[in-house]
Parts: sequence; C-alpha cells; structure tokens
Amino acid sequence: MSQHSSYELDRRTFIAAGVTLIASTTMSKADEPLAPPDKQPPHVKTPEPPAKTVGWAIVGLGQLALEEVMPAFANSKIARPVALVSGHPEKAKKVAATYGVDPTSIYDYKTYEKLADNPAVDVIYIILPNSMHAEYTVRGLKAGKHVLCEKPMATSIAECEQMIAAAKSARKKLMIAYRLHHEPFNKTAIELCRQGELGKLKLITACNGQDVKAPNIRLSKSLGGGPLQDVGIYCVNAFRYLTGEEPIEVTGFASRPKDDPRFREVPESVTFTLHFPSGVIASGDCSFGTAESRRYRVQGASGILDLEGAFGYRGQRLYLQNEDRISEMKLTPVDHFAAEMDHFSECILAGKESKTPGEEGLADLRVMTAIEEAIRTGRTVALKS
Ligand code: NDP
Repeated sequence: MSQHSSYELDRRTFIAAGVTLIASTTMSKADEPLAPPDKQPPHVKTPEPPAKTVGWAIVGLGQLALEEVMPAFANSKIARPVALVSGHPEKAKKVAATYGVDPTSIYDYKTYEKLADNPAVDVIYIILPNSMHAEYTVRGLKAGKHVLCEKPMATSIAECEQMIAAAKSARKKLMIAYRLHHEPFNKTAIELCRQGELGKLKLITACNGQDVKAPNIRLSKSLGGGPLQDVGIYCVNAFRYLTGEEPIEVTGFASRPKDDPRFREVPESVTFTLHFPSGVIASGDCSFGTAESRRYRVQGASGILDLEGAFGYRGQRLYLQNEDRISEMKLTPVDHFAAEMDHFSECILAGKESKTPGEEGLADLRVMTAIEEAIRTGRTVALKS
C-alpha cells in the first residue's frame, strides 16, 4: 500500500512536472519571434577593425585602376584608398565620391609632389602608361612615400636602376606590381616545380595573347607599349619564377603586318626562347592580334603541369599529369590586387622587403632588352649572370 501510494505520488509528481514542461515548451515556441528583433542573425559577428591600416594614393585613373584596383580595396584587409592623382578632375571627383576618398586629397600631375604634405598617404600606386613609370616613381619616392609601380617597371635598364637608387636614397620601399606572386594557382605551380613533383624540369612553353583595339596606350611606342612589354613580360617572369633561375641566352622574332595600321609603331606578335643554366628551354609568345590566350605548360622528366588562364585576373585551372593520370588541383582563388596591396601594406608596417622589389622588375627588363636585341640582330644574345 505504502509502495502504491509512493508510486501514485511519483506518478502525480511526474505527470505534474510533465504537464508543466509541455506547457512551458508550448508557451516558449509560441512566443519565440520568427525573425531576430533587429533582423540580424545572432551568429553574425561584427568585424573588428584592423589595428592599423595603410593609406594608398592611386595615380592614373585608367582601365586597370577603375576596373580592378579601386574595387579591390573592398577585399583588402589593411589597404585603404586615401588619395587620387589624375589629369581629369571631374572623373577623379566621381571616383573619390564612390570610394570615400576626401575630395581635398585629389591631385593632378602638376600638384603630384603635394602628396608629400598628406600624412594619410603611406604609399603611391603608379598605374600610368609604361613611359611614365620611372618619372612618377622617382618623384613619389622623393616626396617621401613608398611606391608600388605597375609592370613593366620602366622602359629601359637605366630607368630601372634610377628607380632602385631613388628608393635607396629616400629609404623608402619600391615594389613592382607582379600580382601573380600572390596568386594561389601560380604559387602552387612554383612549389610543384621546385619540389621536384615533375622530375627534372626540361621545357616550358607559355603564351599571353589578346586582341588590342586602337586607341590604346599599348599600341604607342612613345608611351612604352608593345606586346613584349605588356603581356610577354608575364611569360618571362613565369619562366624565371618557375625555374628559380636567370636565363643565360635568348633568341627572338617579331612580326608586324604591314596591312594593319594598329602596328605602325609596335609589333603585333613576338616569340622568344630562353635558355637556363640547368638546361631548361623556355619558349614564349605574345600578341596583340590574337584571341585571348593565357597559359603555360611545364614539362619535367616525370610529369607535366598545365596552368590554363595562367596570367588572367581570375579563372585559373591547374592540371598535373604523372604517367597516365591527369588530375585537376582545386584551389581557392583570391583577388590578386587585394592580395598584392595587402602584402605591400604588411611589408610597410613590418619594415620588411616585398616579394617583388625593384630588382625583380630590373631582372625582367634585362631579359626583355636582350630579346629585343636578338630580334634586331637576328642573333642569340648572351646574358651576363
Ligand atoms: P589606361 O590607358 O586605361 O590608363 C592609363 C591612365 O594613365 C589614363 O587613364 C590616365 O589617367 C593616365 N595618363 C596620364 N598621362 C597619360 C597619357 N599621356 N596617355 C594616356 N594615359 C595617361 O591603361 P591601363 O590602366 O590599362 O594600364 C596602366 C598601367 O597598368 C600600364 O603600365 C599597364 O602595363 C599596367 N597594367 C597592369 C596590369 C596587371 O595585371 N598588373 C593589367 C593592365 C594594365 P587619368 O585620366 O586619371 O590622368
């Protein structure tokens, strides 16, 4: 009996508790708001601002600056646009308003030196025609700012040397804008080549071609245009970064169709061959008169690597072939320009040298100058090591 009453008691307690529980669950589900009160999902974290940011002045608001570089600031961790330099004030005002740049921080090519008085500017990014790179880099360094200069570094070896000397005497950093050194597919290709994944490297082929319509700075000799300078440089740089070597001799050919007025001043197509100390032979071609084609292939003793879209802003695809097996390597792409600007910003904050200082631009200019000599003379040109 006592057991029974105890059972009855427990059962009653259980039922009471159960009823209470069910009732309370029903109540809370009914009251629970379907949307968060401020429409902000609770798991979303407010980002912390970076401890330090680096202020960038963009010089030359052309296609690259407006279509790639300015939008890339949104993907950058620490680089911020703080000043603009342009020959067209109305355009500059519009760009400043779009990207939150203070309108008092707009300059032109005559007032360029006033950047020296703008403490918000840490680094100047030169995105001008190639013939203006040296002058604006040197003036920027003399104004006491670090400089990122677009490729090709300049139009001659002498200009490159002046730029390097100017950086040294100003005690400021000079980096050349080789965005692919920050791009995961190209970086992986370098690792695979260097780690012997393909066996001993033997041959590399690369092409970088596009159809350039006039008017375009690329078609003007006086502005430093030409397919070798504009797109062939990517092949030259890739041959150097894939092998980790400097070429010892080069050959080259150029073609300039007489019936195409676009090529009054610069060749339409250029091909070149580089011979490296390890024995690697690398052949490249570049053109302003072909459909878009940007890729390279590295052939080693035991494997082959293909990087499709190698030199583009996006869309790289990396394939590795060992014996009969071809595999595609899946990597997460990045915004090349944001990665490049963050890298230089970090170097500035940490007082470190960048991955591609002036010497890297000079090394490419040496090779391109030798290719031009080979084209002119019809001879193989030796490069001093
Ligand atoms: P654009 O012709 O589109 O722009 C160049 C800008 O330079 C002009 O809009 C103008 O800006 C300014 N400029 C000043 N003086 C002159 C002049 N005399 N003639 C023409 N323009 C002048 O060229 P891009 O933006 O395509 O190329 C600029 C640089 O960027 C080149 O060195 C090129 O090699 C490099 N580049 C690099 C790429 C990369 O992937 N790293 C890709 C594309 C280009 P404003 O009106 O504001 O004065």
